Amino acid sequence: MNIIDTHTHIFEPEFDNDIADVIDRAQRAGVEKILLPNIDMDSISRLHNLSAAYPGYCLPMMGLHPTSVTSGWEQDLAEMKKLFATRKYIAVGEIGMDLYWDKSFAEEQRLAFEEQLRWSVEFNLPVSIHSREAIPEVIDSIKRIGQSELRGVFHSFGGTVDQLHDILSLGGFYLGINGVVTYKNSGLKDVLTHTNLSHIVVETDAPYLSPVPYRGKRNETAYTVQIIEKLADIYNVSPEEVGEVTSRNARKLFGL
Ligand SMILES: [Zn+2]
Repeated sequence: MNIIDTHTHIFEPEFDNDIADVIDRAQRAGVEKILLPNIDMDSISRLHNLSAAYPGYCLPMMGLHPTSVTSGWEQDLAEMKKLFATRKYIAVGEIGMDLYWDKSFAEEQRLAFEEQLRWSVEFNLPVSIHSREAIPEVIDSIKRIGQSELRGVFHSFGGTVDQLHDILSLGGFYLGINGVVTYKNSGLKDVLTHTNLSHIVVETDAPYLSPVPYRGKRNETAYTVQIIEKLADIYNVSPEEVGEVTSRNARKLFGL
């Protein structure tokens, strides 16, 4: 099968003891590329090390995650922006807004997000967007910076049917679908029947959000297979076709 994991954090310490096995299982499952969104200043060296260990296979993004936007965010962004001159990143990520846990930095999150959207225009790179409880706010920011110049993924999409249409009408954005789609109580399956595979890319968001039957355990890239099987179910096509179409979407978006 043909698979691209478009959003995973397997550079995190959870994988220190068995990263070679994690990569080996991904390769045997048919994963052809693994895309790695950065989180904060502390994760950068781990991100770079994993990308250097598997060049051309594990591809890094650079950006500041919205839940890591705290008092030193302007300094963090200044440091991160300099890095784009030193190496190739596949995208700006993980960026966005998260109004679920803590709204005290909501305004700073918006400013940091919009600054990083401008990087995406400046460097002509796609974005990997985190939009928890914040899809309308994120869409407003995209429109403010310039929707025709921006492209990317709404990673871990979990919105309503209306939000799905709002995202797709931006023009250049895909829905990142992960293990949540396999959960019994998730309404995501029904929402996804309002679109088709041409707007979807697959991701794990490991170590979080493991698909059934691994729910609650550490997630890893090889479990993209369970997500693809669920999508095959929803759209009544073969898993191979899901892999084919979603990988083609990812290659096009990320220029792979
Ligand atoms: Zn993530």
